[in-house]
Amino acid sequence: MDELKDFLHTMLSCNHCGQCKWILGPKMRGWDFAEVCPIHQRHHWDAYSGQGLVNIAQEVLEGTLQYEPGLLDLIYSCTTCGACDINCKSVRDMEPLDTILALRARCVADGQGPLPAHREQTENVVRENNIYGRPHAERAEWLGQADGGAKPAASGSPGASAALFVGCAISYKYPQTARDIAQILNAGDVEFQVLGEDEFCCGGPLWRTGQVEEFAKSVKRNLGVLRRRGIRTLITGCAECYGTFQGGYPRLDPMDDIEVVHISEVIARLLDEGRLELPVASSPGRLRVTYHDPCMLARLGEKYVPWEGEIKAFGRHEPPKQWRRGTYGVYDAPRQVLRALPGIELIEMVRSEECGYCCGAGGGVATGNPELAAWTAEERLREARASGAQAIVSCCPFCRENLTRDDSLPYYELTELVARALAAGTPAGDVGRWLS
Ligand code: SF4
Ligand code: SF4
Repeated sequence: MDELKDFLHTMLSCNHCGQCKWILGPKMRGWDFAEVCPIHQRHHWDAYSGQGLVNIAQEVLEGTLQYEPGLLDLIYSCTTCGACDINCKSVRDMEPLDTILALRARCVADGQGPLPAHREQTENVVRENNIYGRPHAERAEWLGQADGGAKPAASGSPGASAALFVGCAISYKYPQTARDIAQILNAGDVEFQVLGEDEFCCGGPLWRTGQVEEFAKSVKRNLGVLRRRGIRTLITGCAECYGTFQGGYPRLDPMDDIEVVHISEVIARLLDEGRLELPVASSPGRLRVTYHDPCMLARLGEKYVPWEGEIKAFGRHEPPKQWRRGTYGVYDAPRQVLRALPGIELIEMVRSEECGYCCGAGGGVATGNPELAAWTAEERLREARASGAQAIVSCCPFCRENLTRDDSLPYYELTELVARALAAGTPAGDVGRWLS
């Protein structure tokens, strides 16, 4: 893991241009929905932004800023959504998000961070292997809940080289999503192992809050299980797990032997290969939906590639760095799946893809600062409503939880829509028949 001192180039390169607070110029449609950093939009104070946090990181590194009351709350208000990072990289070669993550790790190393609510969450992971502190033995209960508990939703194929990683949030809060995923994989004849009680928290919430030593234990344990079981492909249903396996794990283990794919990518592939049959639409689009890009699946979904070299004049990196600029995040697959669903019309929000706006739950904010998480979710829903959509669709249990705090706009999990369409059979007709 990089330390704070490794980001001195970023700290010294920040010229306070402010690009980290705004979506890219060509994407702007006016002042409304032009801001991309949730905490800056909430506070309108430079300290609350990528720019401010990079500056704070420099002062902490140089010892000119002490842990005064309020500083930790500020540092932990950031959702680590990465919008600042992608936008900064459109104009300069810097690492604002990794600097923020290193700042948090420094807070923990100094015995200051994380916030008490995050510590409690970590104790839950240590004790029960999940962020909620629910019994570990209940992690795989989703398996036995199909048909009122009489029939397992998925028994899995013990020798398969693919495994389904369900994650804490889906396992304990949205077990139906796990069953929907299993149903889709079964329909596409995808062989996969169910990890059951061999699955433990991916460690994402620990990494994003700076608890890197605890995170390293999660990495070691999960990779140990996967390798022991001969897993070559890991299918995640949760965007947070996906972004953690892609962006966090390779910092500690190259993980070149295991490909990580999100369920939306698997569905898109199955549709391409003709292995999933969806109902045929008998009428034009009847439900207008907009798609919310989960940060950890979209711009933060790129695999981490370590870099070692020299930074020369004007920030030129030798050898060239494989920058994570959000270019190769998972944007297309969920949209491709939505477009394939009969009766669904997809419309885009202004802040989408690499300029997507965080739901507000990431980076430990839902746990440590629920008021800010709620405010950010309301802002995202305001944008979704303004787009003219009748519903919002995403594929992350944390986004789902935050975006369903009120019922101002129906929320659909992508896999729920696909599972319902599959269950309706072919040809089933239009959205009115399968989406009711
Ligand atoms: S975009 Fe980058 S260089 Fe510009 S203010 Fe933000 S962090 Fe600094
Ligand atoms: S990671 Fe997101 S919330 Fe944090 S400073 Fe950057 S844009 Fe703002």
